[in-house]
Amino acid sequence: MINRRGFFGASAGAITLAATTPGALAAPTILNSTTEIMPKGKAPRVVIAGGGWGGLSAARHLREKAPDAEVVVLERNPFFWSCPISNKWVIDIVDSAYLMHDMLAPARKYGYKLVQTEITNIERDKKLVRTSQGTISYDYLIISDGIRDAYDVWFGNDQKAIDHTKLNFPSAYIPSSQAMTVKNKIRNFKGGNFVMTLPPPPHRCPPSPYERACIIAWHMKTNKIPGKVIILDPKPRIMPIGGGFKAAFDELYPDIIQYVPNAGVKEVDPFKKEIKTAAGDFKFDDAILMPPHQAGNMVWSADLIGKTPDGKPTNWAAIHPTHLHAQGDDSVYIVGDAMGAVSKQFGHYPKSAHVANYVGKIVAGYIGERLAGKQVTVRLPDNLCYMLVNGSPREAISVQFDYELLPDGTIKQTQIDIDVRTPDLLEEDFKWAKRMFTDFLV
Ligand SMILES: Cc1cc2nc3c(=O)[nH]c(=O)nc-3n(C[C@H](O)[C@H](O)[C@H](O)COP(=O)(O)OP(=O)(O)OC[C@H]3O[C@@H](n4cnc5c(N)ncnc54)[C@H](O)[C@@H]3O)c2cc1C
Repeated sequence: MINRRGFFGASAGAITLAATTPGALAAPTILNSTTEIMPKGKAPRVVIAGGGWGGLSAARHLREKAPDAEVVVLERNPFFWSCPISNKWVIDIVDSAYLMHDMLAPARKYGYKLVQTEITNIERDKKLVRTSQGTISYDYLIISDGIRDAYDVWFGNDQKAIDHTKLNFPSAYIPSSQAMTVKNKIRNFKGGNFVMTLPPPPHRCPPSPYERACIIAWHMKTNKIPGKVIILDPKPRIMPIGGGFKAAFDELYPDIIQYVPNAGVKEVDPFKKEIKTAAGDFKFDDAILMPPHQAGNMVWSADLIGKTPDGKPTNWAAIHPTHLHAQGDDSVYIVGDAMGAVSKQFGHYPKSAHVANYVGKIVAGYIGERLAGKQVTVRLPDNLCYMLVNGSPREAISVQFDYELLPDGTIKQTQIDIDVRTPDLLEEDFKWAKRMFTDFLV
């Protein structure tokens, strides 16, 4: 039985603050959560569950690829917050306005509907999504709800330990109130051991915890804060861009960063500030505790989590590797970090904004082709990531992934690490972000 962890619990009579027509914010009304949010007309309807990197990309491109379809995005947050570049925001290289974006503006510009609501359940047998404001039916559903922090892997059902960890040692790997807490935590750190636990792979943006470690170390070095950043990595070595990060750790922060490989977490006591790992036990003064990542709750609710050969959940959506719809249900697509493995060679696509944006575009094309009665033309994404390792001078390293469809139908990955840190790569990062933001935002 797949653990759905009591998907949210729909609240009847929720307050509505929805823009149910492009660009228009409806006056607050009380709705019963069984009310239909908007009746379905004759046009085929694509509902997008989750308006982050993958969901908003799919919405924008669907308007071009499937001009006759009605496109509705369901998103809980009032504005778009970019996790990419957020490590740089921690040390004020960019300000909040750089990361925070208006979501009604792209809805208006591209002509899709945006409803601000909490999705509470997905009933595939009825082709229906339940939300805190009511229900909505679909012809095609795109799930793009990102990841969830699986604290229960560490703490079981010890809710006190989970709550204490979320409150005191959050990671801000999901757009939420945690971002400001993490920024303040780093800036207010007075010294001692600052521990970072990394999740086991696959997890969201694999190189970004190392980037964050460099940023914390740089902040400590420049402000003469005594102490160490201890990276507890379950992997045997730094990856990706291992050479570039190792050079930065050794050359820029030799007395500050302590990298501990093979340090899978065995036990966490957030009250005593102690962690037991496969590589030894550690005490901390402050920490960013990243539990294992799993596909977001919607994939669990829709019963689309894959299974291992011995019947255990893979924790990620089971998808067709090239057509990208859910295994066993071609009316549902999964986009972004929630996607499961696509290849025997490398497993998952990197869980990155670049891939989420690209796959959103690909899936929009697939749905457009299917609605037009055409054969689907298989397309593959690529991936690009830039990571800041030095604050002065500002220098970054990067990684690129390319994909190729082999004649036997499998997907091959090629990885290119750029380990030499340069200011140019940071410039490239800002150009990348601008390209992305102008692709699906305004
Ligand atoms: C610190 C950091 C740095 C990063 N740097 C990079 C980088 O440099 N380059 C890069 O490519 N990637 C980077 N990433 C990774 C990137 O942020 C993710 O891979 C990307 O956001 C995945 O897109 P997504 O659409 O799958 O998920 P998200 O962007 O998280 O979108 C999911 C959306 O679903 C919504 N949602 C979830 N549940 C519900 C619900 N029940 N009801 C309503 N709405 C819901 C959420 O509010 C969210 O808006 C970074 C991540 C972090 C944390």
